[in-house]
Parts: sequence; structure tokens; C-alpha cells
Amino acid sequence: MGMGKYVYMDQAATTKISERALGAMMPCFTEAFGNPSSLHEAGRDAEAVVEQARARIAACFHAEPSEIYFTSGGSEADNWAIRQGAALGAKKGKKHLISSAFEHHAVLHTLEALKKEGFEVTLLPVHENGLVRPEELKAAIREDTALVTVMYVNNEVGTIQPVEELGRICRESGVLFHTDAVQAAGHLLIDVKEQNIDMLSISAHKFHGPKGVGALYVRKGVALGNLIFGGGQERGKRAGTENVPAIAGMATALEESLENREEKNARTRAMQRKLLEAVRKIPCTRLNGDEERRVAGNLNFCFEGIEGESLLLYLDLDGICASSGSACTSGSLEPSHVLLALGLPAEIAHGSLRLSFDETNSEADADLVLEKLPEVVARLRSMSPVWKEKEDREEREREKPF
Ligand SMILES: *Cc1c(COP(=O)(O)O)cnc(C)c1O
Repeated sequence: MGMGKYVYMDQAATTKISERALGAMMPCFTEAFGNPSSLHEAGRDAEAVVEQARARIAACFHAEPSEIYFTSGGSEADNWAIRQGAALGAKKGKKHLISSAFEHHAVLHTLEALKKEGFEVTLLPVHENGLVRPEELKAAIREDTALVTVMYVNNEVGTIQPVEELGRICRESGVLFHTDAVQAAGHLLIDVKEQNIDMLSISAHKFHGPKGVGALYVRKGVALGNLIFGGGQERGKRAGTENVPAIAGMATALEESLENREEKNARTRAMQRKLLEAVRKIPCTRLNGDEERRVAGNLNFCFEGIEGESLLLYLDLDGICASSGSACTSGSLEPSHVLLALGLPAEIAHGSLRLSFDETNSEADADLVLEKLPEVVARLRSMSPVWKEKEDREEREREKPF
């Protein structure tokens, strides 16, 4: 059962730090504890850790070390990239931004703020399969488009966008292209050059690194403006003493997650297939997002007639940690904006469940989910007025004389 206490099927919300990443962090507290800006040996030791980490992370994306900026996580990287992309456009009188309807709130809320500052925003539809259509991006780009930001992998439904094609369209139109790759990094092979990516956000805690650290890749030549004023850290663009342990942990976690990637991916795929085939047998259940073009570790279902929140509660009582969508919206009774963007009616979107898993999950984890989930769904349906109404209606339909 993985961690013993419970089955953890919420890897898209956050992950447990790996032994190796933790091991890489420890000496940064005890030995290389200096301030990287200091002009003595202790400082140089810490600076070496930071610069090595920068080079190691850059290598994972086929970028240059000077193109990597450390941040406090994915949200900060998204905010920085979008605000700066918008500002660069505004200097040339371009105040139109393009994104997709089901981005993470770190992107959508930044765009909302920019709207209040006079930018115009077009959100591309993601259709029932959870995918942006390149031809629709092409048609949306205008003379005054400053920036396109489309996420690489959606955090709720796991669909993988045609990033390379989207990047090519932007490059050909002379428009900056940013992608929130928080759910892709460590899982998929990313090559910022080949994929025409100008800016890319990552977050360590989504690939078994520590929380509170991430990075923004910015292609050489894109004149990134300052995020935090102060000292000269991050080439003067984001001041503040570096989080050396976290940066070291992130580099190690990223490298580790890409080692034997295909083998780990194949295992996760097999678990995905097994879970999908079994969960599908529960009546009135649908898989959300394209079945093929999704990451190996994501499944997102809707069960008619029940509420996602109650489903999570009951699964939790059975020792299963899952999610109804994003961790940010749970706790609120609003249906997920992602599922609404897929065109699901609100009452169906309410009954959603996201299972997110990876190679650290065992067969026993999947078995427990498959033992408990159908029971819980049946129990909730037996208490649901909505489900009862649906059954009665179907009963009446059957009894109707021809
Ligand atoms: C988790 C997540 C973020 C936010 O990252 P933090 O490091 O938690 O700020 C942004 N985008 C996506 C797609 C995510 O899954």
C-alpha cells in the first residue's frame, strides 16, 4: 500500500519527495549552507550547488543554463512569464493575449488581472476531448497578439496538448509562446528548441522534489523584466537569497524522474489500463478527456447521480486519497472549470473523480481502489435523490405502452 497508512492516488496534487532528492538537499543545510552571493569559500560552495543545478535542469529541457530562472514554484513562474510576455507586447502596442479555457488558476487569474489593466484575452475552446485545435489557435492570432499561453498537460484530465505545433504557429506569427509544463516535466520528454517554446514553467513538488521551488525557462533573446527588486540573484531579475537546498533537490528529482522514464511510464500505463477497464464497468460512468492523448498517470471520471465531494469523503474513510479535480477548487462547491470547459453539464461535472498515480504506486493500491470504488459509488447512488429520480424516470419509460 505504498506508504502503509493510506493509498495515495493524488500525485497530480503533490508527490512525496524521493530519497535521492532528499539526500541531495541535506548537505545544503549542513555543509554547503553559505550564501551563494558571499565572496568566500562557504559562499562559493553554495553557489556551485546552485549553478550546477541550473545546468542540470537546463540539460533536461535542451536549454542553456542562462535560460533557467529559479522561482518559488509553478504559480510564480506562470505569473512571471505571462505578466512579462504581456508587458513586452504592450511596449509595441500589442495588448491581446491567447490562452485556453481550462488552464490552471495561476494562469487564468493572471489573465483576469491583466484584463483589468486593459488587455484583451481570447480563451481557446478545448472541446470534449480536452484538446486545443492548432487551426483554432492560428485563426485566433491577430496583429496585436502579444502572447500565447497554453498548458502542456492539463492537471485535472491529463490531456497532452500538441505543444510543438502550437509553438510552430506562434513562431511563424512572431508571437511569444509560454507553456505551463508543471504536469509534464519529469513525465514527458521536453525539448524547448525543437518544440518552439519561448517560456516554460515547472514545479519540483509535482515530480518528487520539494515544495516551494520551481523554475521558468526563458529563451535567450526574450527580454524578461524584473519580478523582485533587490540583490543581483537570478541575473538581477528575481532578488532574494536562493533556496539552495530546494534548488538542489529539484535538480536531482528532475533527473531521477527522467531516468528509465519509458520503463516507469509503461508500468504506469498498465495500471491506467487496468483501472480504466474496471471502473468503466460501473454503470453511467464516463472518462473525461481524450483516452489516448493523456499522460499515463491520470484518469478522470464522472459518475452520474453523485457528488464528487461525498465520493472523496467515503474513499478517504476507506484509506484512499484522491481528488475531485484540482486541489485549489476542492473545498468549494463550484464544479470544476476544467470539466465545464469540456462541455459537461454542471450536474454531471459535480460527480467527478481524479485518480493520479505513478510508478511509486503498487498493484495493491490499484486493487484497493477497484475493491472500494464500485461499493462507494453504489452506496452514494442509493442515497441520492437525483439518482432515484433518474431510475424512476427510466422505469416509467420502460412501462410506457407502445
Ligand atoms: C500544481 C500546478 C501549478 C502550481 O504549481 P505550484 O508549485 O504549486 O505553485 C501550476 N500549474 C499546474 C498545471 C499545476 O498542476
